[in-house]
Amino acid sequence: MKKLIATVLIGVMALSMVACGSKKTESTEAAEAAGGTLVMATNAEFPPYEYYEGENVIGIDAEIAQAIADKLGMELKIEDMAFDSIIVAVNSGKADMGMAGMTVTEDRLENVNFSDTYAHASQVVIVKEDSTIASPDDLSGKKVGVQLGTTGDAYAGDIEGATVERYNKGFEAVQALSQDKIDAVIIDGEPAKVFVEENEGLKILDEAFTEEDYAIAIAKDNDELLEKINGALAELKESGELDKIVDKYITAE
Ligand code: GLN
Repeated sequence: MKKLIATVLIGVMALSMVACGSKKTESTEAAEAAGGTLVMATNAEFPPYEYYEGENVIGIDAEIAQAIADKLGMELKIEDMAFDSIIVAVNSGKADMGMAGMTVTEDRLENVNFSDTYAHASQVVIVKEDSTIASPDDLSGKKVGVQLGTTGDAYAGDIEGATVERYNKGFEAVQALSQDKIDAVIIDGEPAKVFVEENEGLKILDEAFTEEDYAIAIAKDNDELLEKINGALAELKESGELDKIVDKYITAE
C-alpha cells in the first residue's frame, strides 16, 4: 500500500512538473509575442530570396524578415501564396507586409506603400545555349515566358510582336524553355542564376533587361508599421547584418 501511495505521489509530482514545464513554455511564448505577430506574405518559389528547405521557408527575405521581427520584439509568421495574391493579402490585413523580392513600381505604389529599398536587382533574359537571341532587342516576335504578375510579365507585354506565356512559378517558365515550348524567359537575375544552374543547356544574356529595387510592401493606412520597419532596416544596414544575410545566399562573382 505504501508503495502504491509512493508511486502515485511520484506520478503526481511528475505530472505537475510537466504541467509546470508547459506553463513556463506558454508564458515564454507569450512574452516573445508581446509585441504581436508580424505576418509576412510571400511566394516561396524565388530562390535565393524565399524558397523551401524541407518544410521551412528560408532565404534572404525570410532572414531579413526574422531580423526585423526580432528588432521589433515580434514573432514572425510566413504565409506562402501566389505572387499576385501578396498585395491583396497586405491590403486586406491578412498579412502585415509583403516581402517577395518585390520590385517597387509606380503601379504597385498606387495600392501599397513600400519600405526603404533593401536590394538592387535586375530582370534578365534566359535562353537556350544555342539560341539566336543575343540581346533583349532580339525578343520581338518571340515566345517569352514570365511569372504571372511580376515586373517581367509587365515588361514582356511591351515587346513588339512577342507572345507572352504566363506561368504561376518562375521555374515552370524555365522548364518550358528547356522543353523548347518558348524561346526565352524574363525573370529576376538571382533566381535566374539558380534556375540556370539547375537546368542544363541554358544561359543568361549579358545585357540585363531592366534595373530595379526590392522593398517591403505595407498597407497604405499602416504608417506606424512602415516607420518601424524602416527603422529596423536602417539598423540592419548600419550594423552590416543585412549584408551578412545577403552574403550567406549570394556568392560574389
Ligand atoms: N521582382 C519581381 C516583381 O516584383 C518578381 C518577384 C517574384 O517573382 N517574387 O515583380
